[in-house]
Amino acid sequence: MSDTDMKKHGSSLKKKGMLAVISGFSGAGKGTLMKRLLNEYDNYSLSISATTRDPRPGERDGVDYFFVTKERFQEMIQNDELLEYAKYVDNYYGTPKAYVESEMEKGRDVILEIEIQGALKIKAKFPETVLIFITTPSAEELKKRLMHRGTESDEVIMKRLERASLEAVGVEAYDYILVNDDLDKTVKHLNYLIQDQHMRVSQQLEFLEEFQKELRMVIM
Ligand code: 5GP
Repeated sequence: MSDTDMKKHGSSLKKKGMLAVISGFSGAGKGTLMKRLLNEYDNYSLSISATTRDPRPGERDGVDYFFVTKERFQEMIQNDELLEYAKYVDNYYGTPKAYVESEMEKGRDVILEIEIQGALKIKAKFPETVLIFITTPSAEELKKRLMHRGTESDEVIMKRLERASLEAVGVEAYDYILVNDDLDKTVKHLNYLIQDQHMRVSQQLEFLEEFQKELRMVIM
């Protein structure tokens, strides 16, 4: 086989779209981090969840969430339209399946920004999914950030901290914990963590198979 033929047939690492779940304590800066990741890298698609909760001021249907009735949500469950769903406080939240599947087929990496119960369901269904948990360096810093945000009452801040304390137990099931102490650094780090998953051998079986075929050809 000539060198040109080899180049033509030469294998390259395959880029199948992957799923990445990002969770984190309220106040850990997850929202800002997601915005930066999507702005700075063009290989990500963010899944938009369906929810039965009411929109907050400024939230838009089809942008922040698909805001649906309890009846419609029930219908989505029955029609198998959701990859996962969970009840969080008094409302349901779920990941629409069609968008995630079509983006992954296009080779795009899909980000699910969901809570812990949903994260575990996704991992059970799709073991290759990388689960990343975002936190502040300390609980004290978390409290400080929530207070400085100025958007919540003292009571809500306390409730969010209590929830963080419950969720902290489940974080052991995640693959990575990322401390958001410097936004620029954390965005880069998050991108590396997700992109590194493409180099797992289990993601590259097709490449390996082609490589083995080529090896047999070059020794002929
Ligand atoms: P919020 O009401 O503050 O927008 O969201 C509440 C929680 O629900 C957050 O932890 C958020 O990550 C999570 N969440 C949002 N969408 C989904 C979803 O589709 N599935 C699950 N399991 N959790 C979600």
